Amino acid sequence: MLKPDHTDHRIRSQRTYKEALTLAMSDRVLLPDHLLTVESRLPEMPHAVRAIYNSYYWAAHSLKARAWLQAVIILNLALIGFDAFLDPSLLAPSLIIRGGIVTTILVALWILWAREQNHAVQGASLIAVSATIMIEAAALGLLGGEALFERYLTGGLFTVATAILFFPIAFSWTICAVTLATFLYVVMLAAGPVADPLIAVFTGCFYCSAMITFASTRKAALRSHWKSFKSKVRELRDQETLEQLNVELRLAADLDPLTGVRNRRAAQEEISRICEGGAQDVAFLMLDIDDFKILNDRYGHAIGDDCIRQVARSIADNLRSRDLVSRYGGEEFLVVLRAADRDCASAAAERIRKSIEQLHIGEPGNFIDRTVTVSIGVALRHGDEAPEKTIDRADEALYAAKRAGKNRTVIAPSPADGPAPSPRRSDHQRREVA
Ligand code: GH3
Ligand code: MG
Ligand code: MG
Repeated sequence: MLKPDHTDHRIRSQRTYKEALTLAMSDRVLLPDHLLTVESRLPEMPHAVRAIYNSYYWAAHSLKARAWLQAVIILNLALIGFDAFLDPSLLAPSLIIRGGIVTTILVALWILWAREQNHAVQGASLIAVSATIMIEAAALGLLGGEALFERYLTGGLFTVATAILFFPIAFSWTICAVTLATFLYVVMLAAGPVADPLIAVFTGCFYCSAMITFASTRKAALRSHWKSFKSKVRELRDQETLEQLNVELRLAADLDPLTGVRNRRAAQEEISRICEGGAQDVAFLMLDIDDFKILNDRYGHAIGDDCIRQVARSIADNLRSRDLVSRYGGEEFLVVLRAADRDCASAAAERIRKSIEQLHIGEPGNFIDRTVTVSIGVALRHGDEAPEKTIDRADEALYAAKRAGKNRTVIAPSPADGPAPSPRRSDHQRREVA
């Protein structure tokens, strides 16, 4: 009967733990980073932080408390035989007190600790444990007479002391439980039948100081819980920041810093992905700004850069979201159109070319007196042609457009129609972006 409940409890506890951790990670207002790094003592936590912290530890804490309760229930039942062995007349009262009343109270507390409870309930449960065990020990001890009274009382106090270690409740509640158990011990010892009062006083002092030691151990444990809670949240936040940085770095590594469009390497990777995926009707547009060297020489590199930026934006503005634009060289761009036939590719190229003609380069009110134009070579991927081959054909078409007078679009012949008449530009003619 215990097994499914135990598994259930574990699953619920794990969920609580994860939820608390997620909340603590995300809530930088409640748990600011400085609190996680600078503060080392147990802080005066606002209610909301306390709730997060408690949920986080609930899983481990309730397992401990319930394990203790379970052990004490079993021990208590076993002690019925022990009572009868020491004094057969104790059998009946032991059955009633240990087997009936005390076991019922402990089982009720065991059930109570299965679900997350607020601080007061957790604290009150330790008070209940302390009172139950001390009164039980005193009652059975009294029935056993002088021979058993002190021993039973001491045994009870010892059991309460272990409870203080196992019940991870707020320190103020621990102090209440310690005070109550000690008070009951001293009062009962003073009022009950004790063979040697002096030894009883010494034993009492010894156990009371042990209780105080246990209580301060509890305080140290609470402090260390808070520290490990903080370091767990801090570690996860650092990991999250690192992951974000990596994403940003990966993104930055794929983009051309001047234009913000993809760089050549990223474009090549994307093209391989598109073509490996068996995409049909892929068109490549190779664009090159006409007489850019003259523009650079006459107006300076800053204007040249502005021109490259504006051309990139203009190309991107004329594409669909599924298409791709990349800066392929100094003033060259490669566009990849998906699901585009010859007409669609040619129309896109002309749209881009005409919109670039409309650009104004330079500062508003101080535009340069020169129209920027581009030449475009278009090639459509033929069957499962290697993308490099299609790009070469687009490049050859671009070269043909340049030779034909620039500011125009030339469509490369299909490979089935035989090689293009003009030779391909050699790579050293293309200046790559650093
Ligand atoms: P064509 O019409 O035949 O393409 O002539 P072009 O002058 O455009 O061609 P060319 O390849 O001779 O010149 C390209 C120039 O682009 C040379 C280089 O200084 C310039 N350039 C390359 N990258 C950049 C850049 O990032 N910024 C600037 N301002 N200029 C660049
Ligand atoms: Mg050029
Ligand atoms: Mg060029």
